Amino acid sequence: MRPFEYTRARDAAEALGAYRPGTMYLGGGTNLVDLMRLGVARPDRLVDVSRLPYDRIEEADGGLRVGAAVRNTDLAVHPVVRARYPMLARSVLSGASGQVRAMATVAGNLLQRTRCSYFQDVSKPCNKREPGTGCPAIAGDHHNLAILGYSEHCVATHPSDMAVALAALDARVLVTGAGGDRAIPMPGLHRLPDDRPDRDTVLEPGDLITAVELPPPPPGASRYRKVRERASFAFALVSIAAVLDMGEDGTVRDCRLALGGVAHAPWRAYLAEEALRGAPAREEEFARAADAELDQARPLPHNGYKVPLARNLIVRTLLELVP
Ligand SMILES: Cc1cc2nc3c(=O)[nH]c(=O)nc-3n(C[C@H](O)[C@H](O)[C@H](O)COP(=O)(O)OP(=O)(O)OC[C@H]3O[C@@H](n4cnc5c(N)ncnc54)[C@H](O)[C@@H]3O)c2cc1C
Ligand code: SF4
Repeated sequence: MRPFEYTRARDAAEALGAYRPGTMYLGGGTNLVDLMRLGVARPDRLVDVSRLPYDRIEEADGGLRVGAAVRNTDLAVHPVVRARYPMLARSVLSGASGQVRAMATVAGNLLQRTRCSYFQDVSKPCNKREPGTGCPAIAGDHHNLAILGYSEHCVATHPSDMAVALAALDARVLVTGAGGDRAIPMPGLHRLPDDRPDRDTVLEPGDLITAVELPPPPPGASRYRKVRERASFAFALVSIAAVLDMGEDGTVRDCRLALGGVAHAPWRAYLAEEALRGAPAREEEFARAADAELDQARPLPHNGYKVPLARNLIVRTLLELVP
């Protein structure tokens, strides 16, 4: 690993003040330190933001405010999160391992980088790691990569499970930086790759995530489900965060659907949601809604299986949510 400076910030002002080009913020380090060991991340300076006073979960405006430095485990086991946002707790628990979750922070989870194998291998070209070098995944191994919203420059997927649940919950990510404070709605933090796959998010250099705000939970039943290659310690092939609110006449009053493992960002399935509102809550309608969304999919030669997988996951999860 190449040498770097390390400094620990006590508050946001100190963190922002310590930032200069070549600096990276350090959360739990469970992704960044791995990438530094691999030579993928090469910061000159680490500013440790894991001890900033953003380690609390507080009730606010009928919802919750979750500090950026809250550990993933503490979020998943928090009694209010478990009672009112079980889909969020489940999404966090479906990721990584107990040890990793105990270290990992909320902000770090959202900003973790893609697990595309070429991105992590500095002997290979990769537009995300080194813009302009090409995307070997398109003609190579892309079996677990994107089917929606990708570009000729990058077909990577975003790995965070938590981000998928936050996208379905209409959460907001609070950020402070050189331009002041702002709130970024989810989905919206993560970008599609277009011709700048090196930019995972809409954050500007030096921006510091301070918290995530959850509005009151949407009415209805919710669920997070994840399909992966093995039962634990694996990223999603396809995942879903779903909320279904039923009317008394057996029709869908409202719903929220977000997919993981299919795109460069959590994918909110707005077309499927639109197709479902007012429709009878039965299997044929759920399948029709899934098709409305997945008609946009452009699978690559070796990841076409994700289209029926996503379709089945949408249909099965919605069926489970019908009372
Ligand atoms: C073996 C393994 C399996 C895993 N499986 C899953 C999985 O299935 N699902 C899943 O979702 N995750 C999984 N993970 C990822 C794990 O959840 C992430 O490593 C973790 O959430 C990153 O959090 P961290 O605090 O350690 O971030 P760090 O590694 O410290 O940082 C990650 C990024 O966030 C930036 N950052 C950190 N804090 C801030 C801040 N406040 N403001 C701005 N930038 C900041 C850093 O600069 C860095 O770019 C897995 C990890 C491992 C090692
Ligand atoms: S899919 Fe994206 S991350 Fe993977 S090799 Fe191509 S450019 Fe790099």
